[in-house]
Amino acid sequence: MEEKKPEKKEKPKAPKRRIQVHKLYKVEEGSLTRLRKECPRCGKGYFMAQHEGRLTCGNCGYTTFTSKS
Ligand SMILES: [Zn+2]
Repeated sequence: MEEKKPEKKEKPKAPKRRIQVHKLYKVEEGSLTRLRKECPRCGKGYFMAQHEGRLTCGNCGYTTFTSKS
């Protein structure tokens, strides 16, 4: 086992990825369509990440399963 070194390894900070809101909406014939579902727990502004067969909230971890049709 490797002993823990007292030195703190500083990870290079990755630039925060800002969520691109404009990609979450789709404007169709003057009406706004949400491409992503919002998180039922976190509410407005928190979108569910789409995965295969499920949607996950990156904020609270809420996961909902979507049935494939
Ligand atoms: Zn959430």
